[in-house]
Amino acid sequence: MIHVVSTGPGDLNCLSYEAVKAIEEATVVVGYKKYIELIRPMLKDQKVHFNGMKKEVERCRKALQLAKEGERVALVSGGDAGIYGMAGIMHELVLEDGDEVAIQSYPGITAAMAAASELGAPIVHDSVYISLSDLLTDIEVIKKRIHAAGIGDFITCIYNPKSKGRPYYIEMAKEILMEYKSPETAVGLVRNARRDNQEIILTDLKSMCDHTIDMSTVIIVGNKDTFIKKGKMITPRGYDKS
Ligand code: SAH
Repeated sequence: MIHVVSTGPGDLNCLSYEAVKAIEEATVVVGYKKYIELIRPMLKDQKVHFNGMKKEVERCRKALQLAKEGERVALVSGGDAGIYGMAGIMHELVLEDGDEVAIQSYPGITAAMAAASELGAPIVHDSVYISLSDLLTDIEVIKKRIHAAGIGDFITCIYNPKSKGRPYYIEMAKEILMEYKSPETAVGLVRNARRDNQEIILTDLKSMCDHTIDMSTVIIVGNKDTFIKKGKMITPRGYDKS
């Protein structure tokens, strides 16, 4: 059996009880090097298989092979495994293989949720996730979806905002969103949410690119009602407070 285990944003206290149990009871743990290091303190006798970035398919094939050999496999994935994580490709490979191996997934705290709880309460209304990585998605599709987020005035959670290979996509996203949203729209940048080196910036749409943004940053762009006050970013749901 394959247990797809979400390991959350970084702090081991953010794993669910059932996720911890699935790792403890596994005979083999498979994952990306960085996430294996993260859960290392929890590991006892489990065998460990890890590899680097862009080796996702290989990693999942290994998990499948081990499960077919009778191992109890925990495939670990950062944040939530179902949000730009390993859950999808793992299911696809198992289906292609004849669907004989069972999968159980354990949800986790995705970067946007971890960031939101640090910022205040910015995602209290309708929201979307958009990844700016064009490794697996055509840039035209990404642009179209940013326009749609703007048209709908969704709170927009931006993942994979900037890498060395594509430093300008975040500028592009900002420009597109400014076609629909005010330049003063509240924005929260959280780097390394729930990790030792966490950094929080509260800013606005027009200035958001003036700050350090990297692949460990998640960005939350508010809607027309989102405001920043006393160090907190808040989106009102609309409750009558009278
Ligand atoms: N499955 C993961 C997302 C993987 S995509 C999840 O659910 O969170 C990788 C992107 O997620 C990063 O480029 C960054 O934008 C975001 N991310 C993941 N962990 C983060 C953290 N601790 N702090 C800030 N952003 C994070």
